[in-house]
Amino acid sequence: MQTLGSDLTRLLGEGAVLTEASDLEKYESGWRYGAGKTRLAVRPSTTAEVATVLALCHERGFRVIPQGANTGLVGASVPDASGDMVVLSLERLNRQIDVDAVDRTVRVQGGVLLSQLNGALAEQGLVFPVDLGADPQIGAMVATNTGGTRLLRYGDVRHNLLGLEVVLADGTVVSGLKCLRKDNTGLDLKQLFTGTTGVFGVVTAATLSVVPLPRQRAVALVGCADGEAALALLQTLENHGLELLSAFEVISAEALRAVFTHQPRLRNPFGKGDIPAYTALVELASTLDERRLNLAELLEDTLAQHVETPAGDGLTDVFLSRSDEAWDIRHHVSESLRSEGRVLGLDLAVPRSRMAAFTQAVRAWVAATYPFMRVCDFGHWGDGGTHLNLVWNPADSSLPPESLIPVVQREIYDRVMHEFDGSYSAEHGVGPHNQGFYNLYTPETTKGLCAVLKQHLDPKNLLGTTRL
Ligand SMILES: Cc1cc2nc3c(=O)[nH]c(=O)nc-3n(C[C@H](O)[C@H](O)[C@H](O)COP(=O)(O)OP(=O)(O)OC[C@H]3O[C@@H](n4cnc5c(N)ncnc54)[C@H](O)[C@@H]3O)c2cc1C
Repeated sequence: MQTLGSDLTRLLGEGAVLTEASDLEKYESGWRYGAGKTRLAVRPSTTAEVATVLALCHERGFRVIPQGANTGLVGASVPDASGDMVVLSLERLNRQIDVDAVDRTVRVQGGVLLSQLNGALAEQGLVFPVDLGADPQIGAMVATNTGGTRLLRYGDVRHNLLGLEVVLADGTVVSGLKCLRKDNTGLDLKQLFTGTTGVFGVVTAATLSVVPLPRQRAVALVGCADGEAALALLQTLENHGLELLSAFEVISAEALRAVFTHQPRLRNPFGKGDIPAYTALVELASTLDERRLNLAELLEDTLAQHVETPAGDGLTDVFLSRSDEAWDIRHHVSESLRSEGRVLGLDLAVPRSRMAAFTQAVRAWVAATYPFMRVCDFGHWGDGGTHLNLVWNPADSSLPPESLIPVVQREIYDRVMHEFDGSYSAEHGVGPHNQGFYNLYTPETTKGLCAVLKQHLDPKNLLGTTRL
């Protein structure tokens, strides 16, 4: 490892290689899960340098973990405990952002942060619409196929990806940075590297489809007596303005209460009144300006009409809200729950028509089996995603978290997979945190195909810690 370090320093320059324990610390722990050890982090700043690093590691048999902004939530971005993995940080591959306003595309290096990309796009009235409460790197967004809060309108990264440049484990550069929206010529190679957590290759650049920045947004927080009322509201909003609906997020009372307890600066629109079982954050967005289409009026009108129908019986409150205030509340849920006690965060998907029934079934099971746990769910109901968080005080359980968590996970995942035809990882992907469940639920044919691809693309099995 020491020789590798000095050879890489010679090839890439002084600042590119880190070996001091104090410098390496930040590359060793994931945001929520995963903690390992490394003796070397290397930070190339061009595709050619990434190729050099990978070729050298391949030749000498060093395992490599690609790392972006380290906000991943399945423990897949950090080295394992062996201390033998090289961290390949893409943080210095962040200089190129080439916008083409006519094509409505951007060609961007893999280490560019989402915020940095959107800053550059905003100068031309554009935005990359995959939106979330973290600030990840673009290459990693491809590797994890990030979803986010506006998937309902714009899709995930996969849907906005036009071209890709990838470096394989042996240093081979695969260039496919086209900007075509139509290219129906057989295998779509870039999709192999999308959502596969970097184990097939390192994303060094991407061509993305971007959209004009909306000129206006209208947001409402809508109280719902139960989950079915939230689904009825979603249907009305889609039937009377699908093309304008840009987000439909739902927050349970338990999760919302945690936000107002731990974030006193955020205004509780319900004031002293009861927080309803669910609150939907509804957002409409348009590139038309207010003179041509008044979105706030339209939203108010649609909600008022919904309340007049039997489907609207389950609405308890409607607050038209400032967009930044409503999103501030939504983006503080995870953090606030962490202040409530031990959290088991499950990132689940079910057909959205079954979301209310699914959540109710889990609530009933948890109440009967583990009464000390609270279900604090919230998430992207518009696209069938829920972050179903279980929160408890470890002192209330006779089982330590290490024993309790796998049992609870297995029970809920089994239900998601077998009873609700859903997914045990809606958008966070696969990593050491949920590797066992990948092994359990993934069809043998899929695993077999992945093994063939891995053998072809990374025959020495050097890239990443996830085993697809
Ligand atoms: C507060 C918060 C909110 C979040 N909200 C959402 C959300 O709404 N939707 C959602 O989908 N996710 C969400 N996430 C998860 C996370 O932000 C995404 O998975 C993100 O895409 C990870 O990007 P990153 O740069 O942090 O990657 P990292 O965490 O550094 O890496 C993630 C994976 O990608 C691999 N990788 C990194 N860079 C590359 C590369 N250039 N080439 C190949 N492989 C690479 C790593 O090895 C690892 O397997 C959230 C996370 C946080 C902390």
